[in-house]
Amino acid sequence: MSAEWGRVRTRLQSEVGEVEYRTWLRQMSLGGTDGDEVTVLLPTRFLRDWVRSHYGDRISALWQAENCRVRRVDIRVGRGPEGLTTPVSTTPAAVPVADATEPAVAIADDGLDGRGDSSGLDQRFTFETFVVGKPNEFAFACAGRVADKPFSPGFNPLFLYGGVGLGKTHLMHAIAWKLQGARRAAPPVSVTYMSAEKFMYKFIAAIRNQSTIEFKDNLRSVDVLMIDDLQFLIGKDNTQEEFFHTFNALVDAGKQIVVSADKSPSDLSGLEDRLRTRLGCGMVADLHATTFELRISILEAKAAKASVSVPPRVLEFLAHKITSNIRELEGALNRLVAHSALFQRPITLETTQEVLHDILRAHDRRVTIEEIQRKVAEHYNIRLTDMSSARRARNVARPRQVAMFLAKQLTSRSLPEIGRKFGNRDHTTVMHAVSRVGSLMESDAAFSEDVELLRRMLES
Ligand code: ADP
Ligand code: MG
Repeated sequence: MSAEWGRVRTRLQSEVGEVEYRTWLRQMSLGGTDGDEVTVLLPTRFLRDWVRSHYGDRISALWQAENCRVRRVDIRVGRGPEGLTTPVSTTPAAVPVADATEPAVAIADDGLDGRGDSSGLDQRFTFETFVVGKPNEFAFACAGRVADKPFSPGFNPLFLYGGVGLGKTHLMHAIAWKLQGARRAAPPVSVTYMSAEKFMYKFIAAIRNQSTIEFKDNLRSVDVLMIDDLQFLIGKDNTQEEFFHTFNALVDAGKQIVVSADKSPSDLSGLEDRLRTRLGCGMVADLHATTFELRISILEAKAAKASVSVPPRVLEFLAHKITSNIRELEGALNRLVAHSALFQRPITLETTQEVLHDILRAHDRRVTIEEIQRKVAEHYNIRLTDMSSARRARNVARPRQVAMFLAKQLTSRSLPEIGRKFGNRDHTTVMHAVSRVGSLMESDAAFSEDVELLRRMLES
């Protein structure tokens, strides 16, 4: 296999050229093979996504040319033996501990079978790298508490919820790492982390292999069970039932459960009532949508970590534009950094707009001019039709200018396009509105706060 892998790499290298290869592909390693499936590993999600979307098909084709049995190439996050650093223990075996008197802690992505899996715990997801702000401080505090003192009744189960990309998985991994690093946990603590999806696959496989008893025993023997993205179990009745029993057995035995989902227990309709009730019995903490301030802090932290200098204007621009979630924000920054390293160009507002234009466009689509008009009209208590009417009374004209200003800020529409949507006004009128609102915001704090509030409402 490794000879074949070597040839695939060499061919790829000659196809894409040295620079591209070194930038994106050099860190690939062979994860393993399983029947007709080959796993290729990359050290970060960013690289994985990039390689998947830009070279995935080519890598598959080259593998098939080498070995016709290969049907699928799976590109994942992880480090193989060829990786640059030694891999984290991704097998369910106990992590070797330097001092034999210290408690052994088994960290496994599933702890249930002997196959190593590179989708275990992400090294980057620790409490230290988690940026805390208003929207996530409560969840952060609860996670920290469980990591420090697991098994406290008030915090068991710990239920973390929030929309995608807001840090649920990050906090769960942080808890697992912290428990692993805990020096004083008198009896050894075994932690099992897995996604609900994985839980289901393991369960189904156990049924198929007639090893459900072993499956149950294994799960019930852990001290801390963490299940990520529980909403996946909605509609999977048998798996849900099994999870419910495991859950009860563990809680009754005083073990710790940590669960994440995209909604609160009471909103997880489709999950059995008794399970929802029990899930809500411990501590329920939500991760709110990010604020501008949190987005700035996260960008600053990540830029500092990557040791690149990103002008504050660019950070602000990104924090204004990419509001959906932290994952996208991170992805955008990573792409900027990679681009600037690749072409040896400093990061400026112009390069940012150029490099990220597809992402920015996708985000623009989230807010339409009509929405802006509606929200602003509502806010100032004027009629929606006044957004395009010819009325010039101040109480109508000012909100209209605010709407134009926000349209310019939040969408990628040009000035003439915006003018057209506001009763066929000229682009110079829009330009005037934008600069007027801008200077008013500088001189009038209350007005500025008002506009910021509207912006935030539109962005969320
Ligand atoms: P979720 O599981 O809620 O969908 P993740 O935990 O996977 O989201 O987070 C998405 C990405 O954003 C990850 O790379 C994570 O490290 C990062 N991230 C999320 N919240 C924070 C935070 N508060 N500070 C730093 N990085 C964060
Ligand atoms: Mg997640």
